[in-house]
Amino acid sequence: MILVCGGAGYIGSHMVHELVRRGEEALVLDNLRSGHRAAVHPKARFVQGDIRDRAVLDNIFSRHDIEAVIHFAASSLVGESVVKPLEYFDNNVGGMQSLLAAMAAHGRDKLVFSSTAAVYGEPERVPILEDDPTRPTNPYGESKLIMEKMMQWVSQAHGVRFVSLRYFNVAGALPDGSLGEDHRPETHLIPLILQVPLGRRARIGIFGDDYDTPDGTCIRDYIHVMDLTDAHQRAIDHLRRGGEGGVFNLGSAQGFSVREMISAAERVVGRPIPTAPEARRAGDPARLVASAAKAAKILGWQPRYTSIEDVISTAWAWHQSHPDGYAE
Ligand code: UDP
Repeated sequence: MILVCGGAGYIGSHMVHELVRRGEEALVLDNLRSGHRAAVHPKARFVQGDIRDRAVLDNIFSRHDIEAVIHFAASSLVGESVVKPLEYFDNNVGGMQSLLAAMAAHGRDKLVFSSTAAVYGEPERVPILEDDPTRPTNPYGESKLIMEKMMQWVSQAHGVRFVSLRYFNVAGALPDGSLGEDHRPETHLIPLILQVPLGRRARIGIFGDDYDTPDGTCIRDYIHVMDLTDAHQRAIDHLRRGGEGGVFNLGSAQGFSVREMISAAERVVGRPIPTAPEARRAGDPARLVASAAKAAKILGWQPRYTSIEDVISTAWAWHQSHPDGYAE
């Protein structure tokens, strides 16, 4: 059985769906602070609880034969982390401390971790490679970098093997429209763009148009959530085969500017999407594009969604059928 911490969140819920589809048994642990009970696959077991609560973890590891853990349970809003750094260190670093201690105590040795491109900060060059400098520019990225370092030391001392997957910009939804992204508040570009054709907002703000990029807007590497779930499954299989752990970038190696994303969304929804210039958002690097060559070589992973319109189409299917998200 695979324990999915944070399996009721955006990426976690898609992961659980994929595990079930592949015939794996999944147990979801989620405190439902930002996750949604309705997003958890009915064939997965569900425990409501916090990973910082050792008793909850001890109970799970004693009662179930947990072969591997996939860890998504963390706070993940860059702006909020700047205002509330202590909450981020408590939830993210504290959660990892508790999880690693429980895994070591119960002799569990396979961990796949949800890391982020935010560990790099402002890159010196793109595409970014895994051994490029890590200089986070916000507490969120710092907390994930600390969590990676904790895994490294605990791996040496207690044999907990780990794969840390540094995601770039995660996007899209399960293609049938039944699962998707529902953050409150929503801060991510694609859902916010799609709120315009949904009639929920009049225009999309562009956070800075004077960056050193061809059209002046920030460039990001958007990766489909189902390509991510595939990478996690490969990471588990890699650890099962006794493969060496480590950190891996997950991105498409293609960059799209904010303006290009808006134009692509206009093509998907078939109507114009009005924009409004806004100030730069603090801490936004001009360009973030991954080199995922290491994941390709070692995990055999390649993104299957290579068209940005296809990525946006799956998000559009979800938002059209669930304009209020999970609406709990
Ligand atoms: N962005 C924007 N308007 C919005 C939301 C985001 O221009 O309403 C920009 C943001 O500045 C960044 C890109 O879109 O350059 C992607 O932002 P998002 O928050 O989706 O992901 P992040 O890059 O922070 O991981």
